[in-house]
Amino acid sequence: MKRILLALVCTTLSLCAVAQTQVIAHRGFHATKNSFDNTISSLKHAQELGVYGSEVDINETQDGVLIAIHGARHRDIADVQKADFAAIRALPLRNGETVPTFEEYLEQAKRSKTTKLIIEVKSHATPEQETRVVKNILAGVKKHKLTKRVEYIAFSKHVCDELVKLAPKKTQIAYLNGELTPAQCKAAGYTGIDYNINTMKRHPEWIKQSHDLGLTVNVWTVNDTANLQWCIDQGVDYITTDNPLEANRLLGK
Ligand code: MG
Repeated sequence: MKRILLALVCTTLSLCAVAQTQVIAHRGFHATKNSFDNTISSLKHAQELGVYGSEVDINETQDGVLIAIHGARHRDIADVQKADFAAIRALPLRNGETVPTFEEYLEQAKRSKTTKLIIEVKSHATPEQETRVVKNILAGVKKHKLTKRVEYIAFSKHVCDELVKLAPKKTQIAYLNGELTPAQCKAAGYTGIDYNINTMKRHPEWIKQSHDLGLTVNVWTVNDTANLQWCIDQGVDYITTDNPLEANRLLGK
């Protein structure tokens, strides 16, 4: 009887682990309704879809304005970090929207009580600049009372380290670059790994290692059905995808 009960508990737990995989819309839900990545409409569509999170890339312009854009190129501007905001704003995106400021993005983020904003702090030219960007992002989030509704990701180790130092306790901070083991990320104070699908397939053992260390596992950018299913089967916590509809379908949502 005990054994049967134990087996039941284990089955239930493992089913829960699988069901817990959450969907993050990569650069918002942009593959719909004439939207475009990192726009207000892509965030709105992600909120309407009711996904766990909507990811966004934040860059600082030459004149110190935080903007939501992947970069580096925008139309005929080779590097948005080396251009003034007005010049970037003057050139609409392919769907007609303009490049939003971080402020505008936060205003839209507030309109949903559930969808989190996953802020990717882009790498910048110097550690000093990255520190300033981190401070300004944290200040904006605090001003809009969104501290509990945002999480952070970055390729730059310096950015992650500054977030560990400067963000409020319990802030979720995941490293993107893929070369650190879960143990190294844990030691650095990060709360999760957020690695490329190919990296995770080379190191599937990092999923259990992360979970044993209390770290979350996010995988990017997973768009095709086979890889989405692989992530779900492996029990990763988050899938970052341009195809949230397919991820939802596989998750039975
Ligand atoms: Mg990104």
